[in-house]
Amino acid sequence: MFFQIIETSSSGNCALIENDGVRVLVDAGVGIRKIRDYLASRGLLLEDIDALFITHEHVDHCRSLKYFAKTNAKIFANRLTAESICYAYPDSKKLKWNIFENGRPFDFMGICVCAFPVPHDTSDSVGYRFQIGEKCLVWMTDLGKPTALVQDMAMGAQILVLESNYCPKMLEASARPYRLKMRIKSSHGHLSNADAISIISRLSPQIVEKIYLAHISRECNSAEHISELLSGIGEMRSRIEIVSPFAQSSSPYETV
Ligand SMILES: [Zn+2]
Ligand SMILES: [Zn+2]
Repeated sequence: MFFQIIETSSSGNCALIENDGVRVLVDAGVGIRKIRDYLASRGLLLEDIDALFITHEHVDHCRSLKYFAKTNAKIFANRLTAESICYAYPDSKKLKWNIFENGRPFDFMGICVCAFPVPHDTSDSVGYRFQIGEKCLVWMTDLGKPTALVQDMAMGAQILVLESNYCPKMLEASARPYRLKMRIKSSHGHLSNADAISIISRLSPQIVEKIYLAHISRECNSAEHISELLSGIGEMRSRIEIVSPFAQSSSPYETV
């Protein structure tokens, strides 16, 4: 199994999972050139992608989706998300949509996938749990608060992608309009650094191997600030990677 985040921030999100010759993307919110270049660096073409799993309709998660209309890639989303994307981007109607129900696990070419609801200001946002052989990878970005279900999902993950979007002080001091600040902080906005750390503090060191802190705001957060907050987290610290929001890929996670 191979996993790498191609990019993650408030500007764009996309990650690759490869397992036994199957290649899937989580979200396609990054410019198509960047996705193509990244895939080329692994000897892959856009046409080699078997499926995409979409979390929600915001542009930083589906910007490049339309480019998959000419490939055989299946696009997985729940009904409301698929409808919202097709409404906002009519080109997307040509995609090969595969509609799932939240909470109902299904198999995609040997990967067991389960989408779970997360509170965000969209029609029906989800996080994903991917069971890939022995490994459980959980993806959760774009959520306003850590619900009991979110905490539960995080606790079962060996590999966790977790939003750590903003520092409240930096958000407050930013030039963002008042309404946007309120949206980000709301229960259907984004997770603060403290929210992310409260989730991490309840994880078992016996289970979690790797945590990627993701969807970090470029203007209202900083790696230095997160590092400082993480200094009290103990042995778990060495397993946490703060993924730069400045268009750099994460380190890969790989099993032999
Ligand atoms: Zn987002
Ligand atoms: Zn969003």
